[in-house]
Amino acid sequence: MSINAKACSCFASAVMVMSAFAGNEANPDALELAPLPMPVEFKSDMDRPVPFDSSATVTVQCPDKDAAGWLSRHFAEWYGKDAPKVAAGGADAISASLPEGDEAYAVSADASGVKIAARSLKGVRWAAYSLRQLAVAKRGTFKLEGRILPTLSISDKPHLAFRAVHLCWLPEVRPQQMERAIRLAALLKFNYAIIEPWGMYASEKHPWWHWPNPTMTKDLIHRLVALGRDLGITLIPQINAYGHASASRSCTIKHVALDFSPEHEPLFEPGGWNWCLSNPEAQRVLRELIAEIHEDFGNPPYFHLGCDEAQPPTCPECRKAPYGELVCKHISGLAEFVKSRGARAMMWHDMLLERGDPRWEGFVHCGSKTTATLADTLPKDVIICDWQYSYKDMKEVRKEWPTMGYFKEKGFDVACCPWRNFDTMKPMADYVAKIGGFGFIETTWNRLRGKDWASMYRYACSAAWGTPVRGRSATPVTDSEFANAFRAVGHDMKTTDYIDAGHLNYQLPPSWWIDN
Ligand SMILES: [Zn+2]
Repeated sequence: MSINAKACSCFASAVMVMSAFAGNEANPDALELAPLPMPVEFKSDMDRPVPFDSSATVTVQCPDKDAAGWLSRHFAEWYGKDAPKVAAGGADAISASLPEGDEAYAVSADASGVKIAARSLKGVRWAAYSLRQLAVAKRGTFKLEGRILPTLSISDKPHLAFRAVHLCWLPEVRPQQMERAIRLAALLKFNYAIIEPWGMYASEKHPWWHWPNPTMTKDLIHRLVALGRDLGITLIPQINAYGHASASRSCTIKHVALDFSPEHEPLFEPGGWNWCLSNPEAQRVLRELIAEIHEDFGNPPYFHLGCDEAQPPTCPECRKAPYGELVCKHISGLAEFVKSRGARAMMWHDMLLERGDPRWEGFVHCGSKTTATLADTLPKDVIICDWQYSYKDMKEVRKEWPTMGYFKEKGFDVACCPWRNFDTMKPMADYVAKIGGFGFIETTWNRLRGKDWASMYRYACSAAWGTPVRGRSATPVTDSEFANAFRAVGHDMKTTDYIDAGHLNYQLPPSWWIDN
């Protein structure tokens, strides 16, 4: 059956997207799988499968001399004895369809073989991840005897260079879940993961600043950083340097320091939610924590300082000076320290917008008149992470995001940060791309589980890449696409525990089986 280009209506978008699936006259119900995120140009015909096994050779054309080796090594890891062979060069035939940009890639698979063209190892990785998501087992056997691909062609590149997930290493989140979240993010072509420790970082310098038995050990961090580097995703550490000093959800009244190490009370405002910004010891401790964790993360080019949802000061020292000046001095000092380590500071936006300002009605804004002055006084190389969650209307699809435009006009790089407001993700990312913004950060908070995890990753990877998500809500075929990617990561981790299968520990709450 020939490729009968049939554009799918769900791809209608301002972004130039050309996706075509072959029609199937014998079985009109049949569908084609697509990779996540949907490529900018994608044609696929599973009625003409091609071998993707040890009989196949994948030719890769890329100036990076490590590209073929990387591909060969990962094919061996993913496919074992069925791994296709890899040959460098020979993809001239498709290099004309390679878009601009160092992350771009082009792929073709047909009777003549599988070909990849890219300008960098980044592009080769994204090509390999697209192929991995599309490869399925050869049909008709009891055991796997190699894989097949549809006849396909892909021409692809992202519209935002910075595409991140923000992951919370809460005490309740097991390290296996964090590793899976990082690996899956890479497979879906995110290139950064911001990790917030939530009292789980095993600091040697300040062991009072973590809960007992922290799981975010140095050895594990080093392993995940190296893993991320290999997979194409850079891990960025976060230390909450202003509010959220408890490293715990406020509704629980837990405090990582004050509960078990009350001798450190002077470092915090009464109650413990904020660091005490007038105490030079707080600045010293924060710098030491930043240095330690930044080094543990391999000194990445960014560092997140948190700074959201802070409360007004109450201590007598912090009351002595104008609050805007105190906060600015504190954050600027830490941003300068981060810069001295060769990185750029990132911070949440909300304290920089005044609560009573009518311009921000309907948007997240937690600041006062004085903290809002920071939009004029903070160093402009701080990246503002504007989190907008559409709290009152999770289905909203607004196209203009004035808070992001505001920070951009003030001279800051700005990243848009949605959460579970899935319908806003694409217009938000498009808006940031339009204003020349910095990038996209998908925040996951306490929802790194279940359907929310699937939807956050599906919608966010598509928005950040610049292509519409396939299907407004999950359908059997799009569920399969996510499940295939999720399961591939489980195989890479060699998971064998029941609770590590799927995106929930249990299918039914264990409490259901307790007779009470
Ligand atoms: Zn204070």
